[in-house]
Amino acid sequence: MTNRKTPLIFEVLAECKTTKARTGRMTLVHHHVDTPVFMPVGTQGTLKGLLPQQLEQLDCQIILGNTYHLGNRPGADILRKAGGLHKFMNWKRALLTDSGGFQMVSLLQLAEITEEGVKFKSPYNESECMLTPEHSIQIQNAIGADIIMQLDDVVSSTLTGPRVEEAMHRTIRWLDRCLLAHERLDEQSIFPIVQGGLNPELRSECARQLIKREVNGYAVGGLSGGESKDDFWRMVHLSTNILPKNKPRYLMGVGFAIDLIICSALGIDMYDCVFPTRTARFGCALIKTGQLNLKQIQYKKDLKPIDESCECNTCKIYSRAYLHQIATVETVSCHLLTVHNIAFQMKLMQDIRDSIKEQKFPRFIQDYMLIVYPNKDYPTWIINALQAVNVTLL
Ligand SMILES: [Zn+2]
Repeated sequence: MTNRKTPLIFEVLAECKTTKARTGRMTLVHHHVDTPVFMPVGTQGTLKGLLPQQLEQLDCQIILGNTYHLGNRPGADILRKAGGLHKFMNWKRALLTDSGGFQMVSLLQLAEITEEGVKFKSPYNESECMLTPEHSIQIQNAIGADIIMQLDDVVSSTLTGPRVEEAMHRTIRWLDRCLLAHERLDEQSIFPIVQGGLNPELRSECARQLIKREVNGYAVGGLSGGESKDDFWRMVHLSTNILPKNKPRYLMGVGFAIDLIICSALGIDMYDCVFPTRTARFGCALIKTGQLNLKQIQYKKDLKPIDESCECNTCKIYSRAYLHQIATVETVSCHLLTVHNIAFQMKLMQDIRDSIKEQKFPRFIQDYMLIVYPNKDYPTWIINALQAVNVTLL
């Protein structure tokens, strides 16, 4: 027994009796988080188009910050002086930061991965930099998020061959370096990341190695990057079969409504994605059947709100015609659409949680799929994924 405080307590409040879904509560240092949860992504310590107070009003309990951007600007020293990102951006609720590795590899063509870390040229002054597992954790310790991510060796989700195996083993070695470098054990939890590409043996092996480490939660990474949906759900299913039930499971980079519903049925508790906020900037509003592109001429004289059943301020006050008028032209349209899109994600997750609690999740899935596919032309991957957790579509 130690006297150390636990920076993450996870309680499963209800489990679906049919699928692998569960609803629970994570108690973190800055706030509690009801799961399954969608975490909006803030980049430079802000969610594009929204103020922290608005995120609170939308019932966001946790948001994601990008270590790569924050480590460059304002930089770890300023964040440390400011008392961490919570104080710097005036966000009082929970935060999660990524390791910076994915951003780096995806943004910079010049990034080169070695055993030591990710070598790259700074986009600001062209100097050579190295992001090591230790350095990633130092920056994340300075940022001070409730949940921090290990640096992992990220390969394209469609890559096959020996590089995938190398990356999987290196990810485990880097995890151990991250755990050793972590200095704020009472306040922050490191999540390891299950890698292994689309190879079931490598994925399983990775998950089995990771669960030997003493950590408070796990992530599934390297998916949602252009692989087939069939590969995608099978890798998620296989990972959640191995990861312990009493710890939260975070599926990185997933945010489409259908994926959130199916992966919750497969036992995932946390998600993040730039999609809802990015698509808002392009003038698109999320609805159950997909999205409305408000720039389209058909909305020019449409005085209905985006969604009559939505309770967000945008839908209460503004018409599609008004949003059509300003979409992508005025910054206020980005703001109004972001409010709606975040409200949409939050409501979806609330509905998922409620239906799990009430033992109605299988029915919720069936009804939702019928709204999206009224002709019952369900994609095969959806049928198969749901069959794997005992749900047959209507
Ligand atoms: Zn709305």
